[in-house]
Amino acid sequence: MSHNPVRPWRNIDRRESRRIMVGNVPVGGGAPISVQTMTNTITTDVKGTLDQIIRAAEAGADIVRVSVPDEASAKAMKEICRESPVPIVADIHFHYKRGIEAAEAGAACLRINPGNIGDEKRVAEVIKAAKDHNCSIRIGVNAGSLEKHLLEKYGEPCPDAMVESGMDHIKILQDHDFHEFKISVKASDVFMAAAAYQMLAEQTDAPIHLGITEAGGLMSGTIKSAIGMGNLLWMGIGDTLRVSLSADPVEEVKVGYEILKGLGLRHRGVNIISCPSCARQGFDVIKTVEALEKRLEHIKTPMSLSIIGCVVNGPGEALMTDVGFTGGGAGSGMVYLAGKASHKMSNAQMIDHIVEEVEKRAEAIEDGKVEAQAAE
Ligand code: SF4
Repeated sequence: MSHNPVRPWRNIDRRESRRIMVGNVPVGGGAPISVQTMTNTITTDVKGTLDQIIRAAEAGADIVRVSVPDEASAKAMKEICRESPVPIVADIHFHYKRGIEAAEAGAACLRINPGNIGDEKRVAEVIKAAKDHNCSIRIGVNAGSLEKHLLEKYGEPCPDAMVESGMDHIKILQDHDFHEFKISVKASDVFMAAAAYQMLAEQTDAPIHLGITEAGGLMSGTIKSAIGMGNLLWMGIGDTLRVSLSADPVEEVKVGYEILKGLGLRHRGVNIISCPSCARQGFDVIKTVEALEKRLEHIKTPMSLSIIGCVVNGPGEALMTDVGFTGGGAGSGMVYLAGKASHKMSNAQMIDHIVEEVEKRAEAIEDGKVEAQAAE
């Protein structure tokens, strides 16, 4: 991310990492932090799985992971990988053959821990398949499934054990002259995950995949992920991420983006700045924002919109946004365009009108006619 000379307190120095490719998506080496999710359909339900992948991609997912628990799922991967609009990561546990089949089926990346798939010969076969099919690998260490000898050595799951596990797996790949890998050290405990990721970041230049695993439902999981990943991203750690929620994968993508948007690390769509509303509001701010969030979901252009209840903060916020609306008296408010007061509009027609203004502005930004304002 380029440094902001005017507002240095916004700068994040990203950790330098190697770049690998997950299909056509670069990960690490200064590439935009990619947002991932995982399907929760039965993989052999190809249509249902593809529908979910497409919905996630439309919401902004750059990469989607699909579980490959059995041979039939590996077979289904062929069509899934062929039809998916984004690269697919195959999630493999224990069965080395599934890894080989997924690579052959067109997976862009295998999530596999080379130390958990059997003897040396099997590991070599999976790595060969990954090489032959241009597949990268994610080493996915999880506090809940650490190797027995590490649990015995450390007594319980802890950051040192997780990083040791990760580095052991890295060594296996390097010993096979395989370098197209990224790594994660996930835990559901934010302290443990954050400590493990910080330690890992010091020990390898591999791209890092961030995650707080089994974070919980939409609300609690979002908060936990924002605390854990938000802090790490703020420190500059993380090249790709997945928010794990017991919710629709589309929600995971939205939350991932919001975390990155909040830190100014990635921009996508309309960043709505709105007040909490109070007795001074000139229109129903909460209902309006709810409606606008839905009506503006299709806008991918990074831009900003301020929806403010009254003149206490409205004009000030509108100065820094692409489109703004500030409540006034007598059932109408002021529309701001590119930071300047433009015209009055009745509250009754305001939602349709703001959608039109945002669409016009997005088109102008895309055509290069104007620059987006403060889209972070
Ligand atoms: S901007 Fe106005 S309406 Fe909104 S919270 Fe502040 S005082 Fe209340």
